[in-house]
Amino acid sequence: MTEREKRIREVFRNAASNMLWGDFDDEPLATENAKENSPVENNRSNLKKDTCLLGAIAGDTIGSPYEFDSNNYKGTDFPLFNKVSEYTDDSVMTVAVANAVMMGFAEGFGGEPDAAKDKFDAAKDKPDEQKTEEAMVFSMRSLGRRFPYAGYGGRFCRWLESDNPQPYNSWGNGSAMRVSAVGWAYDTLEEVEKYAEISARVTHNHPEGIKGAKAVAAAIFLGRAGKSKQEILDYVERTYGYAISQMTCDKIRPGYHMNESCQGTVPQAFCAFREGNSFEEVARLAVSLGGDSDTLCCIACAMAEAVYGIPEDIQQETINRLPEELLVILNRFQKFVAEK
Ligand SMILES: [Mg+2]
Repeated sequence: MTEREKRIREVFRNAASNMLWGDFDDEPLATENAKENSPVENNRSNLKKDTCLLGAIAGDTIGSPYEFDSNNYKGTDFPLFNKVSEYTDDSVMTVAVANAVMMGFAEGFGGEPDAAKDKFDAAKDKPDEQKTEEAMVFSMRSLGRRFPYAGYGGRFCRWLESDNPQPYNSWGNGSAMRVSAVGWAYDTLEEVEKYAEISARVTHNHPEGIKGAKAVAAAIFLGRAGKSKQEILDYVERTYGYAISQMTCDKIRPGYHMNESCQGTVPQAFCAFREGNSFEEVARLAVSLGGDSDTLCCIACAMAEAVYGIPEDIQQETINRLPEELLVILNRFQKFVAEK
């Protein structure tokens, strides 16, 4: 590891650690009290900021050794991290969406590291739909090309390389795996759902692809807003129609196989999220279902983070496996969310 990498890791560790423990200058984090009685709408001070985004990346990393039927492990007693645990396309695209979200604010955050604006001005900086949509295409294609071997699907690879990238009506689980920044960056459920759709539709413009992204982003937002797990699940089932209440992990596990669709991954991730009572339990349950383990675990952990936060040792193991370029953007996004 170079000196520069070491320095960035150190800076990030401090930032992540401060965020985990809520050590902000003047912004109170959501507390247990806030959990019970905070209104969701427009109440920034009650929205959790925490480690934002790292949950999805941790889930991807934890699930990565177990992706595909031949690697699936249908139990919960596995080492959370091993020698082959690594970030994959889920993390690269999660960071790309975070970058695009920042770029989509009127004053422009994100983009190239040296050109980044690093202060948020709430009076002037509002999200812009068209700018965000263009930034999604730009950011996913730039980071995708810089990390070409992260494990993208075939059609997404062609979109990355195309001279004229157009949505391809996908219902793949990629829209749900990459959406978590949207759940952290906006201040109302309405905005979160609108921008989740924007993040999805540049590639995944099939109704199921859009639905998966919106449901996961909404769950993250509601978790940040202090809603209980049951309230989150009720909202998602009511609004998006996933039959989560009729599913259990034990029922899913025996017959579940590799499935790259939103409709065959997102409800399963919600089920692991419902049954796990800590970040780690959600991760273990998600992996134990089998299937597309890194993506399923990525989605479930992104939601778990909003409710439970992430244990410090899991943060550390995840950060240690991330390349500098992704860390820099992640760190900038955390600052961006913290300053909003
Ligand atoms: Mg992957």
